[in-house]
Amino acid sequence: MSNTPSASPLPRQIDPRKFAQQGIEISGSIELSDLSRLGELLFSSKGQVDAHLTFGIGEQRILNVAGRIDACVENICQRCLGGVSVELNCELNLAILWKEEDAQNLPKHFDPWIVGEGQTDIYQIVEDELLLSLPIVSYHDYECVPNTYFSAGEEEASRVIEQEPRVSPFQALEQLKGSLQLGSDSEETIKSSETNDSLKKEDDN
Ligand SMILES: [Zn+2]
Repeated sequence: MSNTPSASPLPRQIDPRKFAQQGIEISGSIELSDLSRLGELLFSSKGQVDAHLTFGIGEQRILNVAGRIDACVENICQRCLGGVSVELNCELNLAILWKEEDAQNLPKHFDPWIVGEGQTDIYQIVEDELLLSLPIVSYHDYECVPNTYFSAGEEEASRVIEQEPRVSPFQALEQLKGSLQLGSDSEETIKSSETNDSLKKEDDN
């Protein structure tokens, strides 16, 4: 296998069963813009996808496709939210099946690929494999955001979380009452504190 990118595009609409029966191999590149589900998760649509797929008939006369997909894409760095290059390499070994139930007795090294009659979009399966191999989080391997800045932010966040349970609604009311009494001795304030006192008495009973 060579490392040079395949120049020609991978055929998109193919008949996988016919390909398997004829033992056809296909290889080529795919534009990231053709893989919109993957593209939505990435930092940009810049990148290269290369696939090499071999169709055939394996043990138990199972029609299958095996191969390799390599891609270099720009994931989002979870520290600076910039683009970070990520290599995706997947090996696939799929049994071409008519329906879910056919997967029950499948040898373990196969993953099921449920396909209807005739032509199908092979890019969908390539995209599925790439989505599975995409890391959940990526970071630049250098300090893209100064460490001090980042840890200060974390400290700040934990302090906020710690403080929240400390102030109960009752404490907040007490504080409000206190500040009202200190701040003004108008009739309105006195009335409201009287009301509170009478409520308290009722609670005691
Ligand atoms: Zn970064």
